[in-house]
Amino acid sequence: MDLNLMPEDIVFQGEVRAFIEANLPDATRRGMALTTAFLNEPEMGREWHKKLDKKGWSVPAWPEEWGGPGWSPVQKYIFDTECARAGAPVFNAQGARMVGPVIMHFGTQEQKDKHLPRIRSGEDHWCQGYSEPGSGSDLASLKTKAEPDGDDYIINGQKIWTSFAHRSNRMFALVRTSTEGKRQEGISFILLDMDTPGMTIRPIIGNGGDHEFNEVFFDDVRVPQAGRVGEENKGWDVAKFLLEYERGGALVAGRVRAQFTQVVRLIQARGIDDPHIRSRMAEIGADLDAMEMVDIGVLSDLQSGANPGAVSSMLKMRWSSIRQDVSELALDAAGEDILKWEPGRPLYDALQLPPEEEELLALAPRYLNFRAFTILGGTNEIQAGILAKQVLDL
Ligand SMILES: Cc1cc2nc3c(=O)[nH]c(=O)nc-3n(C[C@H](O)[C@H](O)[C@H](O)COP(=O)(O)OP(=O)(O)OC[C@H]3O[C@@H](n4cnc5c(N)ncnc54)[C@H](O)[C@@H]3O)c2cc1C
Repeated sequence: MDLNLMPEDIVFQGEVRAFIEANLPDATRRGMALTTAFLNEPEMGREWHKKLDKKGWSVPAWPEEWGGPGWSPVQKYIFDTECARAGAPVFNAQGARMVGPVIMHFGTQEQKDKHLPRIRSGEDHWCQGYSEPGSGSDLASLKTKAEPDGDDYIINGQKIWTSFAHRSNRMFALVRTSTEGKRQEGISFILLDMDTPGMTIRPIIGNGGDHEFNEVFFDDVRVPQAGRVGEENKGWDVAKFLLEYERGGALVAGRVRAQFTQVVRLIQARGIDDPHIRSRMAEIGADLDAMEMVDIGVLSDLQSGANPGAVSSMLKMRWSSIRQDVSELALDAAGEDILKWEPGRPLYDALQLPPEEEELLALAPRYLNFRAFTILGGTNEIQAGILAKQVLDL
């Protein structure tokens, strides 16, 4: 495993840095510094996405055939790390990183031609309709039903925790098309428009005060069967393919490192010299270094064409725990100041204070929202189960 960047990668890194410096507006950097939810508001990422698209960089992991830059895994890692370091927003990960690869792999030519260019350009914003009340970790128990009617399906049921359903114009969803045989064998994967009659979105406000999640109700929603990806009742294979992208596709070192740097700056600015805080900083710093080494190992596998496999579960578990540790360290550093609470959201619209005061007000809601990292995309307990089975052979 070679830990050093090749000379051509260093040139590429310089090119990415220069692009970000010239194109990422200060207002967006401020917006990201004050983002308290686990994902940034889509609107904040839209302009940035357009600039990236003009440059040919809006879908970094896609092949050139569909408008991707054709980068190696190392180039993609450098790009992600530099964007995170600079505080650049993410636009529609559910589109570019989840349903996009699914459509490329399983979709018909018509589905590819219809959807992929609009994901690349940022015209469409997608949300993920997987979870239901009672069907999260045990996803295969899902009940939202799609019954054939001519060339259409009629959908009835409910989804929950649907991130940014209220900001999306399209959804990919898992629906039950059969109750025969094994539960996994009666599921289909469907693409639908959010303005289809019979769909109702109801907000869920998270414990940090942000509106990210929603419940989505389906009441006799008629959608064309042509929107199904893959064969009827074979949606579980499609769903599993997508979950691999959701869990393992993103190496997030850059984003966690940026978050840690922000907290270290806060500690220094407040002149904190407390042995407890110092030892927490050292522990988290060591965890970050260790996990970056694992990331680089995975990168090395990806670069040589190998699949990282179950290590994705370990990465997901450790990175989400480290992000929570960083958000907790920030609270310790802020002391009593975290008791000040601004209810308005997003914070960057609600506040007009000097930067150091504004950033303090983001810490407590972020800490609360970041509890979600060990739940979303498969809880830590589920990841531990995967590791036990696939690595320890238990
Ligand atoms: C921030 C965030 C964003 C999300 N966005 C979306 C989205 O856009 N679309 C979507 O479809 N879903 C979304 N989800 C839902 C997410 O996928 C589920 O919350 C997750 O799969 C867990 O399911 P659950 O909430 O039903 O918990 P449950 O499955 O009910 O789990 C409850 C507890 O039991 C434990 N548990 C369950 N089964 C086992 C087991 N077999 N072994 C050991 N322990 C177990 C879990 O680890 C957990 O601690 C989001 C969740 C969060 C937090």
